[in-house]
Amino acid sequence: MSSNLLDSARSIEPRIVDVRRTIHSHPEMGFEEEQTSTLVRARLRDLGIPFKAGLAKTGVVAQIKGELGDGPCVLLRADMDALPIEERSGAPFASEVPGVMHACGHDAHTAMLLGAAELILDRKSTFAGTVKLMFQPAEEGGGGALRMIEEGALTDPQPDAAFMLHVWPDLDVGQVSCGPGPQLAGADAFTITVKGRGGHGARPHETIDPVVVGAQIVLATQSLVSREVDPTVPAVVTLAAFNAGTVSNVIPDRAVLKGTIRAFDDKLFAHLEERVREVATGVARALRADLDIEFEMSYPPSVCDAAMAQHLGTSAGDLLGADSVLVSKPEMGAEDFAFVLQRVPGAMLWLGVKNPAWPQPKPVHTATFDIDESALPIGSSAMAAVALDYLKRR
Ligand SMILES: [Zn+2]
Ligand SMILES: [Zn+2]
Repeated sequence: MSSNLLDSARSIEPRIVDVRRTIHSHPEMGFEEEQTSTLVRARLRDLGIPFKAGLAKTGVVAQIKGELGDGPCVLLRADMDALPIEERSGAPFASEVPGVMHACGHDAHTAMLLGAAELILDRKSTFAGTVKLMFQPAEEGGGGALRMIEEGALTDPQPDAAFMLHVWPDLDVGQVSCGPGPQLAGADAFTITVKGRGGHGARPHETIDPVVVGAQIVLATQSLVSREVDPTVPAVVTLAAFNAGTVSNVIPDRAVLKGTIRAFDDKLFAHLEERVREVATGVARALRADLDIEFEMSYPPSVCDAAMAQHLGTSAGDLLGADSVLVSKPEMGAEDFAFVLQRVPGAMLWLGVKNPAWPQPKPVHTATFDIDESALPIGSSAMAAVALDYLKRR
């Protein structure tokens, strides 16, 4: 069955590639995926797959029911949003939208899930139960998955298992990886506004300099991981943006710092949030400044179910050969599929997209990111296989 699936996926490869390139050249930011959502709906309509649209604005949930009757429900998810990056890949199908780029492969995820839908539909006489397809907006910070869940994506029917894949430029085409337990960290973003008193650069004693206060906050928060976290436990506090002032002789009245906290352990995560708040506030108070700190959208850690990760690995191994399936190690990146994993046992597949002949790596979230498109039929068949195998093994 499985090698047939890969053959079938290769026979529809031109269609998957075409969809990926169409989406790639028209990237859309989170919750603005109008054209992408329209394309998804048109393709589902062509295939005769019923769907519900308009969840979390642009999200779509489709269902393929097996002809062997009632059974469990398995969910497959793809994300649709792009990033605020100016593309420099040089691809003939590069972004036509200035400053917006599919630099995380979500174009490929959407195209591969539509390919998987076709493969599953062709085999609907072979299974009982339901395959649910979730096309979600705003993975990159907007929490589109959570909003879709709040709007009913996981009801009627409620999935018994959930899977996603993500392109992974560290792995060669043909390789995949997955693993049990925490795979991606919990993450949140925060903004600190230091409010001081501006003045002449030559009269610092008449000011409360927010640049100096901000600099102390950067340094003080860096000791939280090194001095307050067990060195054997992964954690990150990064201050990635520091904006203040415009010229050399004017002390500004405020500084704005932006950062992120990453950890796998919920208690540690909460502790670091509290301590960033306390340390930043304490430093500001000691240096006579006022301070606002706001925590924005936070993603929980992505914790894969051990049995589901094993099922995913076995299914991928049957499809691609056991040697092609590696055990993934945890990363400090984050995914809003975590919200699905909190509610449904599931697992994540990392899909190799690197062409070994490339002289340079093409990492995600960079202007030169790209994938070897021969990975697309592998991804489509892997998603179809994990769902079909799950429903047949029940
Ligand atoms: Zn990303
Ligand atoms: Zn991504």
